[in-house]
Amino acid sequence: MKAKLVMLITALFCQSVATASELILENFTVVSGHLTEQQENTQIRIVDGAITEVTTEPMQPLTAHAKLINGQGKFLTPGIMDSHVHVGSIPGIGFLDSPNAVKHAAVVEEYLRQLPRSLLYFGITEVLNLGGSDGEKHFTAAREHPDYYTCQPIPVIGGYPHLSAGYTLRHARYFIIEDPTQLSLPEYIDPALHTPEAVVAAIAKTGARCIKIYIEDGFGAASDWPLLSSTSLQRIRQAADKADLQVWAHANALDMYHIALNHHVDGIAHGLWNWQWKTNPDNPPVTDTLEQLIASDTAYMPTIQVMLSLQGMYDKDTLADPRREKVLPAALLKWYSTYEGQWFKREISKDFGDLPDAKVHELSGYGVGRAKQAAAYLASKGHPLLVASDYPSSPSFAAAPGLSTFYEMQQLADAGISAEQIFAAATINGPRQFGLDKQYGTVEPGKIANLLILTQNPQQSVANWESIETVILRGKPIQRSALAVPLP
Ligand SMILES: [Zn+2]
Repeated sequence: MKAKLVMLITALFCQSVATASELILENFTVVSGHLTEQQENTQIRIVDGAITEVTTEPMQPLTAHAKLINGQGKFLTPGIMDSHVHVGSIPGIGFLDSPNAVKHAAVVEEYLRQLPRSLLYFGITEVLNLGGSDGEKHFTAAREHPDYYTCQPIPVIGGYPHLSAGYTLRHARYFIIEDPTQLSLPEYIDPALHTPEAVVAAIAKTGARCIKIYIEDGFGAASDWPLLSSTSLQRIRQAADKADLQVWAHANALDMYHIALNHHVDGIAHGLWNWQWKTNPDNPPVTDTLEQLIASDTAYMPTIQVMLSLQGMYDKDTLADPRREKVLPAALLKWYSTYEGQWFKREISKDFGDLPDAKVHELSGYGVGRAKQAAAYLASKGHPLLVASDYPSSPSFAAAPGLSTFYEMQQLADAGISAEQIFAAATINGPRQFGLDKQYGTVEPGKIANLLILTQNPQQSVANWESIETVILRGKPIQRSALAVPLP
């Protein structure tokens, strides 16, 4: 009996080794956050999508059909995690269910097919969707897509982001009813299911990594949008602790940052760029708030792209960047230059009192500049940053999948942050922050083989992220060029 069992186990083992897919990367220079310096002449064994061995010794294949890739003169890094994306809205168009998206259904379809590939094209192998489940079905149905995680939003009824109580009640899944007597609730909504505790418990069941709350009382001319009460925020925090969920806050202004920090959020999903410089000269220095963030170990997403993609609509070079053709369908790119395709720009111009383009460009540049200053301050203090593009943060046509993440890293570099710090922000900091560092973030045994082959070292210059040759997704090598928008 025993002998039979041993034979059976041996047979199964041999069979599983024989059918395992094995990839050996030979002679690579490994660049990884867990190493103090690059490691040359390294062999990496990948079996069934996971790294099983990393060594500077020679490596023999375990299977007859092992695939080999020679890395002479090439670099191997972990893939990039973009910790703030939205997969349910389209640059220049808007949300998937918007009239614009319905009207342009064919190009939207093409966009959705290309989106995961475009992110991979720029080396992004993991994403966190801060828009909850929006767009998830399309994204995860793709044959090849970055590994996908979510953060579930709790919109404020009558406040940000929908600004319409009716819309939130009809369309949102998770919201908190603070005072049922103040709302005309449809009958099917049970207020008992919308207490902070009930909502957090419901989110915990979805497998989301985090909860996103909104601390936003307005931008542009508005400053009177309702916020959740301090009691609700405290109850969310307590319930999230019990459920082992992180709480992330949408906030970008000083006063909103204070609310977020005073309620002990785990992270703030936007950079601090609204310093209320005009309205309140008596504010303490912005660095006081950033010091509070550092002292409380609160994570930070600079999301400079939010501001840059607004400013980008007023920059004639934006649509001329040839890299856009690699990541966006030609028909969509063409449409951006039409009168109809520029609708969001006209909307923003209206907010700026229809000032000339050059003036709006200059004014929106303040936000870009401040976002960069805040990120550089934190980096100078050694506070870990996250690469988080917030792609696409608005219906701006200046955003582009993958390219926006690359732009974000360029902006961080332009702010004076070192390529090494940006490398950590792109690879290891995200997985560490979201409890995913057993799976991702470094080139080490036990990790999922989401890796990049490059001809230049990105730890030396952010521009070198453009030298990606091959994206390895769960052990499967894909030529970068094969991920671009197909030629007509
Ligand atoms: Zn966002």
